[in-house]
Amino acid sequence: MPEMRFDTYYKYAELTALLHDFAARFPALCRVTSLGRSHEGREIWLATLTNTATGPDTDKPAFWVDANIHATEVSPSACVLYTLNKVLAGYGADPQITRLLDTRALYLVPRFNPDGAELYLAERRRIRSSTRLYPWPEPRDGLHEEDVDGDGRTLLMRLKDPNGPWKAHPDDPRLLVPRAADGSDSGPYYRLLPEGFIRNYDGVQIKVAPKPEGLDLNRNFPVEWAFESEQLGAGPYPVSEPEVRAVVQFIVDHPNITGAITFHTWSAVYLRPYSAHPDDHFPTDDLWTYQEIGKQATRLTGYPAISVFHEFRYHPKETMKGDFDSWMYDHRGVYAWTCELWSPEKEAGIDLTTGPDGKGGSRYIEWTRTHPVEEDLKLLKWNDEVLGGRGFVNWYPFQHPQLGEVELGGWDIDLVWRNPPPHLLEREIAPHADFIIWHALVSPLLEWRETTVTPLGADAYHLRAVVQNTGWLPTNITARAVEKKLVQPLEVEITLPDGAALVSGERKVEAGQLTGRALKRYADFWTPDPTTDRARVEWVVRAPAGSEITLTARHPRAGKITRTLTL
Ligand SMILES: [Zn+2]
Repeated sequence: MPEMRFDTYYKYAELTALLHDFAARFPALCRVTSLGRSHEGREIWLATLTNTATGPDTDKPAFWVDANIHATEVSPSACVLYTLNKVLAGYGADPQITRLLDTRALYLVPRFNPDGAELYLAERRRIRSSTRLYPWPEPRDGLHEEDVDGDGRTLLMRLKDPNGPWKAHPDDPRLLVPRAADGSDSGPYYRLLPEGFIRNYDGVQIKVAPKPEGLDLNRNFPVEWAFESEQLGAGPYPVSEPEVRAVVQFIVDHPNITGAITFHTWSAVYLRPYSAHPDDHFPTDDLWTYQEIGKQATRLTGYPAISVFHEFRYHPKETMKGDFDSWMYDHRGVYAWTCELWSPEKEAGIDLTTGPDGKGGSRYIEWTRTHPVEEDLKLLKWNDEVLGGRGFVNWYPFQHPQLGEVELGGWDIDLVWRNPPPHLLEREIAPHADFIIWHALVSPLLEWRETTVTPLGADAYHLRAVVQNTGWLPTNITARAVEKKLVQPLEVEITLPDGAALVSGERKVEAGQLTGRALKRYADFWTPDPTTDRARVEWVVRAPAGSEITLTARHPRAGKITRTLTL
């Protein structure tokens, strides 16, 4: 096996070499191709995993996994590499993995946004997503985040200011807390700013400049796309950005994709659509199926599965637009998830699945707006005990060329918040490979239940084929897909040799959609199991004895199967 480590974050050249190394060592199982080039011209690598001896990926149901659309979210890349490694190493040894590659395909994109990730890994610059400057063609005036003292970390600056909003916590002076609203306490008071320099400082006003790279590729998908006024970073038009365009084109060109996970950080949750609508917006069967899949995500990974609209909205009055999972569900009609890996809060023993008193709803986003100070102290305690204090840099003086005496310090954002510290990486990502494998294996899958030939005399034969969906999901995957005409029906085709004639039946028969078992949640006495998971097709053929007839059943989401019958 190529050596792949899961206590490190790979730069682009290393990632590229590793992927090609895998493809070279597993030529029958792994192919590495480029989806297209990024804004800066880097290839966006796709690893296609399937056993080519049992058919090409395009004839099989497939599952999509991507990561690192957001520049600093590099542990998601590691998660996809972990999955790649696990699946290739497990083929032939692990029965589920073997069945996965024999009957299905995985499309793995470990680094959706190679430019942004490289800027982060090589230069430690934190931007949201693409490196393309947007919406301004050049940096604006104001404070720009930068490592001002050259220690390799970009932290916070703490400025003494009699009108600052913060003061030190009496028990742990590293921690800043709000000063008294009524002015009843005493200073020193502080102002907090990102570590950086101010472009065109007038000596009085400190503006915080927007990051010059203002795009968010995960707002550029063509679902409910909105302008900058409504959705920051969405770009000038849907799929305006080369990375998103390449991915959207590939996915649209591959109707065999039956589901998807996009990996991000952080929060330790699986997020599902809708981002912009309450759950009422779903066809009910789709919501129930989403919830069933979510339960399995939680069983395998410990991460809760929640709706973005109901539990993960950045602002109570705003909704997210143009995001991948909503696009996959609403425009492609498949179940798609956004997994937010890692949670420092969870590590510190802070439960975000409930309110601070253990009651009430979850507070993944609410926590970033406000939470009890005891929870900050818990985080510092975790930092001191588990990270040996490395995660929080105690304030130290620095002579800032523009602001004079300041202090630098605070959370080492890169070590603690953006991704797991390297020694915790493998533990965090490993369970998600199991969920990917499970999710890929619940797709619909066509099989022949029966093919029979009955001689009728005088070179005439009656042929009967019964095709069934053996997958857990229906062939259409979602009700939304049927409603929006996003999925074609099962087709069963008969191919005759020269000298044979079709007496009755059609050469190509449309056989609708076949159900699965997804909503068979418990056995009762009022819901029977009619055989809606199978389709029967019949023909009468006239041909000389010994002729070979080929039957092909094909469904865009359930694969293609063929069988040759000898008369
Ligand atoms: Zn993200």
